[in-house]
Amino acid sequence: MIGFLIVLIAGPASGSVKKCPKCAEEVKAEAQVCRFCKYEFPQDPVKSDAPEPIHIGEKITQKTVDELWEQRERVLRKKWG
Ligand SMILES: [Zn+2]
Repeated sequence: MIGFLIVLIAGPASGSVKKCPKCAEEVKAEAQVCRFCKYEFPQDPVKSDAPEPIHIGEKITQKTVDELWEQRERVLRKKWG
C-alpha cells in the first residue's frame, strides 16, 4: 500500500522532468536540448531503456521442434524394442 502511494506521488513528477547532466537543472523529459545550458540530450533514451522483445522464440523454429520430437520418438521406440 505504501509503495503504491509512493508510485502515485513520485511517478508523474519523475517522469515529466529529467536532470541535465551538465548543469544539474531540471528540464522537461521530452526536451532534446537543455533550456539552461543548451546541452543536447542523447536521442531517444526511452527506446534504449525499454525492454527488448524476447528473441528466444525465433531461435526455436518449427524444424527444431519436429527434430526434437523425432529424436524423442526414436528413443522411445528403442526402449520398447
Ligand atoms: Zn543544462
